Amino acid sequence: VKTIGVLTSGGDAPGMNAAIRAVVRTGIAKGLNVKGIMRGYAGLLKEEIVDMDSRSVSDIIQRGGTILYTARCAEFRTEEGQKLGAEICRKHGIDGIVVIGGDGSFNGACKLANLGINTIGLPGTIDQDIACTDYTIGFDTAINTAMEAIDKVRDTSTSHERCSIIEVMGRSAGYIALWCGVANGAENILLPEYYDGDEQALINQIIENRKKGKKHHLIINAEGVGHSASMAKRIEAATGIETRATILGHMQRGGSPTCLDRYYASMMGARAVDLLCEGASNRVVALRDGKFVDYDINEALAMKKTISPYEYEVSKMLSR
Ligand code: ATP
Repeated sequence: VKTIGVLTSGGDAPGMNAAIRAVVRTGIAKGLNVKGIMRGYAGLLKEEIVDMDSRSVSDIIQRGGTILYTARCAEFRTEEGQKLGAEICRKHGIDGIVVIGGDGSFNGACKLANLGINTIGLPGTIDQDIACTDYTIGFDTAINTAMEAIDKVRDTSTSHERCSIIEVMGRSAGYIALWCGVANGAENILLPEYYDGDEQALINQIIENRKKGKKHHLIINAEGVGHSASMAKRIEAATGIETRATILGHMQRGGSPTCLDRYYASMMGARAVDLLCEGASNRVVALRDGKFVDYDINEALAMKKTISPYEYEVSKMLSR
């Protein structure tokens, strides 16, 4: 391997810049040329490829987002798009690529690997919904951002003795909701993995809690569970308690990454370059039981993970 590329793809996540920086600087330290591919696979197909040196990643470790920008690219889902991508890599002398993104991006990396371009995936998503790894780049920052925002809503919710529904990200995975629900002391945590849609039970609990003397009722709703604003209206109508919905939205993706995200993203970026130097391809770097490991991308994509029932039960116990 002489020349490697790095790209970010899918949803952005804080810590991606730390990973890019680590790939660039580790690559250079090992005598490789490093190229930045802008806007994920879309930029690859448009040959938006720039030479990187140590200074091109100066002053980015503390910044959210991704300096390489990110995109989704329908054309890369097609065989022609993938072949074109591999050809462009060859044209630019790129024989290895680090892809920072989620499962979709790893699917794309796998296709490139099959076409002879060595690829290594790094798990970058705030949702933590990549099965092969206990940690994904951006999750720690996102939960801290959401936690601080929820604390603020909680203050005003308590002062007005309201019920508050706060919607956090997580279309199909409730990790942000669970972690914030526990950390913010929510009365209910509605997770796509466990919520059975029994709104009447929820309403009964709100009424019971009010009788018990609770001054507020905080519901953390994962995005995938349903429409928070209409849920708030129904709850208010049924309980007579003023109920407001707050959707945290894209603020959860931004902001300066936490120390943990900067550190792990740095280690994973370096590991990706080590793997390319060893001739590895179609691998994804993961953190499992406190150790950095790597898996075949196809194996990784076939893995399943879910929120531990024990942790979910604890979350319910602590909210009483
Ligand atoms: P997030 O979890 O943040 O959504 P992701 O990486 O899963 O991130 P996707 O939009 O699913 O996000 O994928 C990013 C890009 O990867 C797609 O726009 C597409 O270009 C490429 N991609 C996804 N699936 C495939 C596939 N099956 N084959 C080839 N390329 C793919």
